[in-house]
Amino acid sequence: MSFDTIVVVDWSGASSPSPVRPSKDAIWIGVARRGTAEIETSYHRTRHDATETLATLFEAERAAGRRVLAGFDFPFGYPRGFAEAVSGEADPLTLWRALSDRIEDAPDNANNRFAVAAGLNDVFPGIGPFWGCPDSLGDPRLPSKGTLRHGHGMTERRACDRTKGAQPVWKLFTTGSVGSQALLGIARLQALRHRFGPDLAVRPFERHDAPITLVELFPSLIAPTVEALAEDNEIKDRAQVRILAAALAQLEPRQLDAMTREGDAEEGWILGLGHETLLEAAARAAFATPDPLEDMPKTDLMPPRLRDDCFAMPQGVRWVPVDDALAKLHDALHPVTGLEILPTARAAGRVLAADVTAKRSNPPMPNSAVDGYGFAHAATGTGVQRLPLVAGRAAAGQPYPHAVPPGHAIRILTGAILPEGVDTVVLEEDTNTDATTVVFDGPAKPRANTRKDGEDVAAGDPALPKGRRLRAPDLALASALGIGELPVHRPLRVGVVSTGDEIVSAPDRPAAPHQIWDANRPMLLALASGWHCEAVDLGHVPDDPEQIAARLDEGARKTDVILTSGGASAGDEDHVSALLRQRGTLSSWRIALKPGRPLALAMWEGTPVFGLPGNPVAALVCALIFARPALSLMAGAGWTVPQGFTVPAAFSKRKKPGRREYLRARLTEEGHAEVFASEGSGRISGLSWADGLVELPDEAAEVTPGTPVRYIPYASFGLI
Ligand code: AMP
Ligand code: MG
Repeated sequence: MSFDTIVVVDWSGASSPSPVRPSKDAIWIGVARRGTAEIETSYHRTRHDATETLATLFEAERAAGRRVLAGFDFPFGYPRGFAEAVSGEADPLTLWRALSDRIEDAPDNANNRFAVAAGLNDVFPGIGPFWGCPDSLGDPRLPSKGTLRHGHGMTERRACDRTKGAQPVWKLFTTGSVGSQALLGIARLQALRHRFGPDLAVRPFERHDAPITLVELFPSLIAPTVEALAEDNEIKDRAQVRILAAALAQLEPRQLDAMTREGDAEEGWILGLGHETLLEAAARAAFATPDPLEDMPKTDLMPPRLRDDCFAMPQGVRWVPVDDALAKLHDALHPVTGLEILPTARAAGRVLAADVTAKRSNPPMPNSAVDGYGFAHAATGTGVQRLPLVAGRAAAGQPYPHAVPPGHAIRILTGAILPEGVDTVVLEEDTNTDATTVVFDGPAKPRANTRKDGEDVAAGDPALPKGRRLRAPDLALASALGIGELPVHRPLRVGVVSTGDEIVSAPDRPAAPHQIWDANRPMLLALASGWHCEAVDLGHVPDDPEQIAARLDEGARKTDVILTSGGASAGDEDHVSALLRQRGTLSSWRIALKPGRPLALAMWEGTPVFGLPGNPVAALVCALIFARPALSLMAGAGWTVPQGFTVPAAFSKRKKPGRREYLRARLTEEGHAEVFASEGSGRISGLSWADGLVELPDEAAEVTPGTPVRYIPYASFGLI
């Protein structure tokens, strides 16, 4: 199930209305809607006002068919045994009814929570479990200090309250009076349950899918991130609801839903507990802003939606140089994919969404780098050394459990932890032994043939940077450092559609002489998969505006970005560009590039569309040069610049200034770049013949055999 609207509530157990002027320690509500960067916050002076606001919001969202996840920063449950003692049943929602029957909470916040707590204490032997009240109350059943309680039999905390900063549910007064917030909050939520019936589910107690889902939250879970992202002088409560709502809205729907179902069916659970890294990454993703001065590839994450006018080109520009077009694309785009956590072993090809640090040093302990004999360096000297051997040996996974006395040696194998008393190892090949003594030539170098603990990576050091496309060696590193789960971006969904009346969708269908089989779609789908995107086949459509529009609608629903081919110029039959001009926000970029006609860039229902040329050669070149870095950026992996190599040309060519040119090329046996015999842009065979492209500069060029040229292998474009 997915949530469209995320509501985060910072609750209050105050006994009178909060100040008129928005203040801290009052009720704050933050609302984020999936897919938009905007987050609303509101301030409420009373619980009554806040509850009415929530009810109105829930009703509006339900009417609009939007699913709501609403989180509250007070406990939904009590330590095991409490519910049964109070209500006769272990079911926490039966307890909710019992509590709300007792609580009175007036519209001005006046309430009877201390009296209710004192009455609840009566159910238990001894004194407690509730404690904390104003001096004026003077009820002996409700002690003023926690230490005055005894014999009530309840545990102090729920399993999920054992996290840093969490307060026990029994405390009613002063700092973090969680107990009061819960008693008063549960009564209000019970009223909402009554009002919305089966349309409202309380997780993890209730498991049915409902339009409105309530969960318990603890904003302190991501306290450092909230502090880092808060606005200047922002009230902490406001920052908490704003940032947490935005973070939750960034999560993958599947993952968020799974999180709401975690935890204990009696005590309840704090949403996101154990997933702090993911929540923090999501929060940073929601608020990171681009730094216009920074000319490094931008790997910073930003809000999910692209602006409708993001592809606008200044008027009057006729031919855009390739580099200008790339810079413009780079600035227009940002990451759009949600985040999820994957086991390290399944994260290959995914993009890391947050920096991760080493959980443990590698190696964790000093150990031997070779097979040989270990001893204390201090007890050895120059000349021939004869050291008696201790019984036993040290091997990888079989540590030697005793100390090795000074002046003695031990048989030690590669990877074995250095036993106590050993700091130096002599290589087996440099020794002689009769099984009781080892002999070698001194002096040995101190710590020779040993590895220090943490010499590779120390615990707490940066291990992998966010934005990294995870490769096999990265998984080795993460695993070696004890990192079992990684926060990653979900794969970018790339839709591919071909257009043209002459196109037959696949070679398993007959083609009349005036028809051709679709070559672009399988090519672009394979490119997208090779770039670790989720390639979505949107099929072929004839040159009919209505059918093209319907297919783009489908693409906008199912994908993050659409690649079309064909019909992208400005001619009579160029229906894609005509349609995008009419109904989308088209920017036709006339790029000074050969091969390649204008690149049509547009937003369609909030989804970017790359209108590639129909010609397969131009379609491939434009995809490699423009779509690849753009898709990489949108996927969270940052802008990519293909690595090229300067090699001698094995061909001759004279080129005029004005347009950059890409030639289908491959390397000869001598490592020179040869180019395909024909530059005809319909020659698909040349694409397959080639192993890469030769890039000729925008300026004029005169190439003869031996002239250095830039060769970019297909592999540098991530083409496999
Ligand atoms: P267009 O951009 O629609 O004017 O098409 C330019 C050229 O590319 C024409 O010769 C088309 O027939 C050809 N073409 C367009 N789409 C494809 C495709 N999917 N597969 C192969 N050739 C295509
Ligand atoms: Mg066409």
